[in-house]
Amino acid sequence: SAQGLLRESGDAFQVEHQCLGKCQGLFVPQFYVAPNAPCVQCVECQLLFSPQNFVMHSHKSSDKRTCHWGFDSAKWPCYLLLARKYLGSADEPRLKQLLEQMKEKFHYQ
Ligand SMILES: [Zn+2]
Ligand SMILES: [Zn+2]
Repeated sequence: SAQGLLRESGDAFQVEHQCLGKCQGLFVPQFYVAPNAPCVQCVECQLLFSPQNFVMHSHKSSDKRTCHWGFDSAKWPCYLLLARKYLGSADEPRLKQLLEQMKEKFHYQ
């Protein structure tokens, strides 16, 4: 990608999933303007994905295939997690709240 890795600045923060392999991405709230808007950038290939497509994207194949029985990318809010590096940090509560707001933005549960 020509744009390179987006900066982790402003409201952007890292997320990850462990579905069908695993992947880390940078979520950019400003890009999340529609349910299928590409707003999560894979840190490995630097491509942008919608949240639902991001949880299906991985560069590592899973060695635990049986745990994906019943995987449904439409349930991406269940699979998209705050990046582990924030766990236990001072930023964790604020970022967890931002992630929950993102998940609710177009999903009224
Ligand atoms: Zn990628
Ligand atoms: Zn799994």
